[in-house]
Amino acid sequence: MAQMDRILQEQRLRTFLATESTISPVEVNAIENRINLLDLDEAGLRDFFESIGEKPFRAQQILKWVYHHAETDFQAMTDLGIALRQKLSLIAEIKLPEILQEQHSIDGTVKWLIGFNGGNAVETVYIPEPKRGTLCVSSQIGCALNCSFCSTGAQGFARNLTTGEIIGQVWLAAQALGHERNGQRKITNIVMMGMGEPLLNFDAVLPALSLMRSDLGFGFASRRVTVSTAGLVPGIYRLGEHIDVALAISLHSPFDEVRTELVPLNRKYPIAQLMQACRDFVSEKYKRTVTFEYTLIDGVNDHPEHARKLVKLLRTVPSKLNLIPFNPFPGTRYRCSSQDRISQFQEIVMQGGLIATVRKTRGEDIDAACGQLVGKVLDRTKRSERIKLQRAETTS
Ligand code: SAH
Repeated sequence: MAQMDRILQEQRLRTFLATESTISPVEVNAIENRINLLDLDEAGLRDFFESIGEKPFRAQQILKWVYHHAETDFQAMTDLGIALRQKLSLIAEIKLPEILQEQHSIDGTVKWLIGFNGGNAVETVYIPEPKRGTLCVSSQIGCALNCSFCSTGAQGFARNLTTGEIIGQVWLAAQALGHERNGQRKITNIVMMGMGEPLLNFDAVLPALSLMRSDLGFGFASRRVTVSTAGLVPGIYRLGEHIDVALAISLHSPFDEVRTELVPLNRKYPIAQLMQACRDFVSEKYKRTVTFEYTLIDGVNDHPEHARKLVKLLRTVPSKLNLIPFNPFPGTRYRCSSQDRISQFQEIVMQGGLIATVRKTRGEDIDAACGQLVGKVLDRTKRSERIKLQRAETTS
């Protein structure tokens, strides 16, 4: 197959060389290593077209074809001109990931297993509600952060997703759902709350966010695209400087000791630093707010004392609080708080003046709830650890 591709590519190259008098080094390089245009946002596409001697406005044409008309075949892009279409099919491609499986929950939630080169896969979830439809997108294959209550963390980490693999999830979900950009907008909100820590994959996530936001892309308003982080402080500042999107913080405890047990990253960026980053994020020129996510775990972080401390902490930032009942998964030592505890917790924080909602668990029957996304992680970290362990065992 790979050989067939190569032969075809060489044939195309010969035809190309016969019809074009000059070919730049950039083009030679691109022919050998076709560039996936899904990896580029508008700025990236403009640079790309300039680098191959074309007008930068071609970027807008391509974006409209791909994101407004869901067209990925250069030959169908009729306003590009035959020569340019031919050139593009030689040096570039529009390569989407692949839907490996689609599952429907009885509550309307849809979960896709989306596969990439090399056998890895992530999960993408669509959650319909009466007035909105939220798409939960993954940013990494697995996750390196190891939060003790999250099944994605328990799987280890394989690699970052590329921009094309991130925006490709939105593209595929939009197609599968019959989302119409200027008609029936099935997807109204995007949350980067799937597998992975988006701010640890900043360079690929940023262009993907820009494609979600841009009018030439999916055209979502700034408050309808949310980046959720376990608390990577430098990443929060970078995000605030580069793009206007909503921020969600996975807080889970107002006490450093408990938070470190749940989110080990807290050791590096403790609560005080994290809260300062949130205050700085909202105080910039845009009218921003932060959503704090708080997973309620029985006997760990659901005590009234936690609720009272949380009130004191969150009063200092314009924010909303999203309480998430813990979703169990095989092998976890944690349990979900009782209904009474959840209600009591919500009451205390609301009396304290916070805006707090309890997130309804969705898609439970297809394992699509928060922290249950597993995909298929061909785990490198775990493997190297295992090898080290094996070596240690064999040499001792
Ligand atoms: N790494 C980012 C993006 C993942 S978002 C982040 O941490 O924010 C996934 C959300 O679900 C996070 O708020 C996470 O803390 C929460 N979560 C993880 N495991 C969970 C579980 N088992 N039950 C309920 N919520 C969980």
